[in-house]
Parts: sequence; structure tokens; C-alpha cells
Amino acid sequence: MSSEFLDALTAALGPDGVLTGDAIAPRHLTDWSGHAPVQPLALVRPASTAEVSAALALCHAHCVAVVPQGGLTGLAGGAVPVAGAIALSLERMNAIESIDTATGVATVQAGVTLQALQEAALARGLVFGVDLGARGSCQIGGNLATNAGGNGVLQFGMMREQCLGLEAVLADGTVLPMLRPMQKNNTGYDLKHVFIGAEGTLGVITRALLRVYPAPRARATALVALPDFEAALSLLSLFKSRLGTAVAAFELMWRDFVVASVDWQQLREPFDAAHPLVALIDVTGADEAALREALESALGEAFEAGTALDAAIAQSGAQAQALWKIREATAELPSRMRPAINFDVSLPMADIGRFADTCRAALSARWPGQSSVFFGHVGDSNLHLSVDGATVGGDADAVETLVYGLVERFAGSVSAEHGIGLHKKAWLGASRTPAEVAAMRAIKAALDPLGLMNPGKVFDAA
Ligand SMILES: Cc1cc2nc3c(=O)[nH]c(=O)nc-3n(C[C@H](O)[C@H](O)[C@H](O)COP(=O)(O)OP(=O)(O)OC[C@H]3O[C@@H](n4cnc5c(N)ncnc54)[C@H](O)[C@@H]3O)c2cc1C
Repeated sequence: MSSEFLDALTAALGPDGVLTGDAIAPRHLTDWSGHAPVQPLALVRPASTAEVSAALALCHAHCVAVVPQGGLTGLAGGAVPVAGAIALSLERMNAIESIDTATGVATVQAGVTLQALQEAALARGLVFGVDLGARGSCQIGGNLATNAGGNGVLQFGMMREQCLGLEAVLADGTVLPMLRPMQKNNTGYDLKHVFIGAEGTLGVITRALLRVYPAPRARATALVALPDFEAALSLLSLFKSRLGTAVAAFELMWRDFVVASVDWQQLREPFDAAHPLVALIDVTGADEAALREALESALGEAFEAGTALDAAIAQSGAQAQALWKIREATAELPSRMRPAINFDVSLPMADIGRFADTCRAALSARWPGQSSVFFGHVGDSNLHLSVDGATVGGDADAVETLVYGLVERFAGSVSAEHGIGLHKKAWLGASRTPAEVAAMRAIKAALDPLGLMNPGKVFDAA
């Protein structure tokens, strides 16, 4: 069967469109999650929606499963090949078809990298609202399939909020051309949303209509020392009420994170005293002087209220970069922790401080001397924590049981951004009720009755 199937695929897509054996580059065998490499039956590289449709129709006819692949920067194992299935890469579908500056709408193929879209938008005085560290490699299709968040969520929302329309191909090859650039369109179910965040389990995203916004002309950055988490919430609320949507970033770093960052990167302590929490705040706007004045005035109020204990306001782009450097210690995690056991959770905003304290105490009670760092976007409910595997006897499973058990107790989410993929399947039930998972399975069965799209990801076959 497989040679007849591969011959038919090659006839439909041409020899560049179907690679097998050693012709498949090793990078297609796994993703950034660190999962062991898996050899797919073939790497399929369509160059158009019609070719995606033809490939999926053939897979359907031959009952061959399909693993969609974007830039392979996913951290949950969602794009890792499945033995006997094809891996379908969108890398050849990388056209930015248009950017309409008047209406603020970009039309792109799914294989465009995030950075290529950001740069094309910037060249027209526009900004794309999502930004994340993997920007150079991750693709718009992968960003949509994981509903990626990243740095701009407070101001612009996640990928879902950027998407006005998308084109997707179902498991049997049917094309759903949902590319209508209207914000208002209440004509039955808004089907694009089932593909966003579905991690390739419902179909292949091939094109998208995305919002782009006028680029801000001014940016100001401040680092603020805080006495406790309640002060952080008050400060965020104060900034939102005084500066509204100008608040672009509100990153919170607990003392353990600041200590590690300063040590790992050989930086100077940002403040004379060792404060329990530090917030890194970015605000953007049209006028530099007005923005700075509004920032200073809001900070003045925070000092009076006792929510801010100390602050540094960047006087230049270089100083802003230096303040951001403290937050960028995350790049050091893979080399400094042996290994880093990373968590990407979200919690009701009011509970984040209590969760962090409870979690740290529980880790220390179980593994005295454990080393971990807590940091997060907080403004969007997202908390990251990384535990040094060497300080917990390398027992990642036990650490996950402890942390995800607490997330469940606090009614949080085991994945704020990165998705479930392969790695968090066992924990889906900590954040979703059986009825919710059953509804997900019903959608899967309706759109992919043979279970061919990215099998074994998010949940196992029923
Ligand atoms: C250094 C670094 C920093 C990161 N920072 C962030 C961050 O701040 N916020 C965040 O949310 N994530 C972050 N990530 C995770 C990752 O970059 C995102 O999940 C990203 O959106 C994945 O895009 P990708 O193109 O690499 O997708 P892949 O890894 O290739 O695939 C991810 C999932 O999407 C599916 N998929 C891919 N393309 C398609 C398609 N066209 N149609 C249907 N399904 C598809 C795959 O099957 C898989 O399930 C980071 C990763 C790294 C390595």
C-alpha cells in the first residue's frame, strides 16, 4: 500500500513535494520539546492550498495519518511525527500575499514566519500584535494552531484576537475558505475558532487574514520594586486606569528569578534593597514627552499609595534594553538548570501570588534546598516557573504531579500558551472537566471521523 500511496502523492505534488528516508532533514523528526526523534512515512511539502487538499484527500483514501508541521518551535511535542504517518510541512507556503495599510489587514500563507510578517508590517509603519522568542522560525500557521501568546498579549491579545479569517483543509481534503475580512459576521458558528488552538488535530491551516495596527511612535520602560503580590495587582490596575491600552507589558519577577538572572548574566542588582517582587513595565503611545509624563505621574501615585517601593525609568533605548535584560534570563534556563523542568500555567489573576508562595513552599517541603524561579506575564494571568532538576533528584514526574495538582486546586490551566501536544496529555483533566473533553472529542469526530489529523496529540483516541 505505502508505495502505491507514495507514488500517488508524488504524482500530485511533484518530487520536491514528497521526501522519504534520508532525504528528510533531521529537524523534521522532532520539535523544541526535546521529544525523541520519530521518522515519518514521508515529509510532504505542498506549495499551495490545492496541493494540501490533494495530499489530505489521498491520505484519507489510504487511511494514512497526517502531522502538520510549522516552524517546529513548539514546546509540547505537537509537531513530532507519528510513525507510519506523513509529516506535512507548510514551509513552502510562505507568501505574504498583501498588507492593506488602510484597513489594517494582512493576508498570508500559513508558512510565513512570524518575523517575516513583523518586518513586512513594520516596513509599512504597522505592527503585528504577537511577538515571541521563536519569531525567526515559528510560522503563522503554528502560531494559530497553538493560539500563541507571548509579549504583546496585554495590549493586543493572543493569536485568536489577531485572526479575522482563515482557510483550513479538513482531513478528507475539503477546503473551508473562511477568509472574510469583516469583524462583524454573525452567520452561524464562527468555525475559524475551532482550528485556532487545536494543535493540528482538526485540519491544516493554509492561509489567514490577520489584523495589523499602526506602530507606536513612543515607548517608555520602568522597573518597579514592590512589597508583595497585592501591590503588583494594585499597580497594574492603577496603570490601566491612568494609561489605558498604552500598557504594553507588565512582567513580574519574584526575588528568586532576579537573583538567578543577576548571577547568570553577571548583571548589577537593579535596586539597593532585595525586594520581594519587581515589575517590568512597558508603555507605548504616539508622543514621547506625554507618555513619559503619564508614566511618571502614575508612578508618583504608586509611591504615595505604598505600592511602589523603588523605581528606575529608562532614559534611553539602551537603558530600556538593560532593564529588559533582567527578564531575558529565561534564555539561560536550558544551560543553567540541569535540566530545567519548565511550567507554563495560568491562574485566576488574584490567586497568582498565593499560588506562587504555596507552590514554592510545597517544593521546598518535598525537596529541601530545591532551586526554582518564578516569573510571568501576570497582566494576562500567565505564570512561568522553572525548577532545577538537579535539586529535585531529577524527578520531573513528581515535580509535575505536585505543580499540576496545585494548579488544579487553584482552578488554573496547565497550559497558558504552549498547548497540550504530547507532553501534557496526562494533565488535560486537571484543567478541563470530563464533559468539556467529551465535547472536544465530539468536534474531533465530526470533522475528522477517521481520526487521521495529528493522532495522539491533545488526547488519545477514544
Ligand atoms: C525560544 C522559544 C520561545 C517561545 N516563546 C513562546 C511564547 O512567548 N508564547 C507562546 O505562546 N509560545 C512560545 N513558544 C512556543 C512556540 O514557539 C509556539 O507554540 C509557536 O506558536 C509554534 O509555532 P511553530 O510554527 O513552530 O509550530 P510547530 O511547533 O511546528 O507546531 C505546533 C503545533 O501546531 C500544529 N501546526 C503547525 N502548523 C500548522 C498548520 N499550518 N495547520 C495546523 N496545525 C499546525 C502542529 O501540528 C503542532 O501541534 C516559544 C518557543 C521557543 C522555542
